[in-house]
Amino acid sequence: MTEDDERWMREAIRIARSKGSDPSTSPLGSVIVLDGRVIAAERNQTHELPDATAHAEMMAIRRGCEASGALELRGATLYSTLQPCGMCTMASIWSKVGRVVYGAGRADVHPMYFEARHVDTLSFIADAYRDDIVIEGGCLRAECAELYYPPDADLPEDEQANL
Ligand SMILES: [Zn+2]
Repeated sequence: MTEDDERWMREAIRIARSKGSDPSTSPLGSVIVLDGRVIAAERNQTHELPDATAHAEMMAIRRGCEASGALELRGATLYSTLQPCGMCTMASIWSKVGRVVYGAGRADVHPMYFEARHVDTLSFIADAYRDDIVIEGGCLRAECAELYYPPDADLPEDEQANL
């Protein structure tokens, strides 16, 4: 993890907060950087569109491919304020990003933000798809975790979007 990583993660946090920072709206931000330049910066937009697949990382990959005019984002780093879900991890593989850096991990936030059974993405990917993608967590972990409900939050059921 470098100072540049923290700089780009701050940008992802800023994007996450761009439509307010109510943790019930799952404020996730994702930034894709290629050759030292941001080519996409997106917040999750599942409710706005509405589109169940419009996670921040999915939206950033779509915008990144549009911006670069290429199907593949080789050499790019994808930053996300929260550990990417299985769908977004697979999207990272298909888009050929070289590196994924996330802030808060599964253990840092309430379970409502994740699938009930999260695949161990790293070993899954190495076995099944690619052994050259790097996934690193914990970049500005505390700042990112502040965007979300804490692990032990006592939430009413209708607040728990993913359960
Ligand atoms: Zn996702």
